[in-house]
Amino acid sequence: MLGCTLRAALSAAPSRAGAQVRGSRRVAGTCKAAAAAAEATRECQAAEAAAAEGERQQAAATPPRTLSLPPNPYELLLEGKRFVCTECGKCCQGSGEVWANEAECAALARQLNMSLPHFLSRYTKAYSRKPGWRMLKNQANGDCVFLRDGRQCTVYGARPLQCSSYPWWPELMDDASWVAEGRAVCEGIEHEDALPVDAQEKAAVLRAATDYFADQAAAAEEGQRSGKKRRGSA
Ligand code: SF4
Ligand code: SF4
Repeated sequence: MLGCTLRAALSAAPSRAGAQVRGSRRVAGTCKAAAAAAEATRECQAAEAAAAEGERQQAAATPPRTLSLPPNPYELLLEGKRFVCTECGKCCQGSGEVWANEAECAALARQLNMSLPHFLSRYTKAYSRKPGWRMLKNQANGDCVFLRDGRQCTVYGARPLQCSSYPWWPELMDDASWVAEGRAVCEGIEHEDALPVDAQEKAAVLRAATDYFADQAAAAEEGQRSGKKRRGSA
């Protein structure tokens, strides 16, 4: 506001001076007007600098806002857990079932460069009357049909979420189940070489697995059989 007033005075000064003088007096009057204008400019700039400094000091004195977010419940479940995959292959060995939904079957078929009908008949069997869900076949020894040499998953990049999310399954997140799983199946759980996990990253996996297994459970209710859920992560 102050700057505007001074600018108005500045623009008005030369014309008033010009109106008051005629002939030889005009030069002297114009000089006075120019001096007044220069003075007004200095005052204007000083006032604007003072206003800017005041705003800067006020901003510096205001404490930063803090966000108060509720803790992510999935991250809380992961607190203190440690894991490293040793690639022992045990989670894919022996009897067990891997269920795959329609999108996962399509991804597996693409990975294997075969048509979906061919893939379904060769590597899966009917599992549920609910459309889309299938069960992967097992080898004669019980291992997953895609396990090679007891340790290597031959469809690793397209393995179903049941496999890729292990051991970040909701049913394993309480401490007793976590420890029991480590003793019975997965040597990577609380392994001596394991590091604390990236809680944010694994919380996203756990959350996806929770939603996925809810869908799977709904399919299981309509299923023709329901047996041991294979861990499958190799
Ligand atoms: S997830 Fe566990 S059981 Fe499976 S290969 Fe890794 S360490 Fe072995
Ligand atoms: S990760 Fe899953 S699909 Fe791959 S071999 Fe293991 S159980 Fe089979």
